Amino acid sequence: MPGDPFYRSPAWRALRSIVRRRSGGRCEVSGCACQGVVVDHIVSRRDGGADYPGNLRHLCRDHDNQIKEGADGVRRNGGRLKVRGCDADGWPLDPARGRG
Ligand SMILES: [Zn+2]
Repeated sequence: MPGDPFYRSPAWRALRSIVRRRSGGRCEVSGCACQGVVVDHIVSRRDGGADYPGNLRHLCRDHDNQIKEGADGVRRNGGRLKVRGCDADGWPLDPARGRG
């Protein structure tokens, strides 16, 4: 959750840099080559997800928006990713979303 002081801790910064290095700066969703912008817990902390690289992934803006937690702390779409992100130039792979 955004207000969680954990996300300002040195431990989180260290984890985040590990994940960013692992991903090469790219979204880690299969088939997505977008620039990664958010390091996300696969199993969220409120559900007991570990603060460990194996439970973290680098997400692009589109994929983060799909499952971002609302003010109530509940993930959108039940935490499931739908669209396959975008290509290396940042364009959505889903043609229904159009270009720009
Ligand atoms: Zn993505």
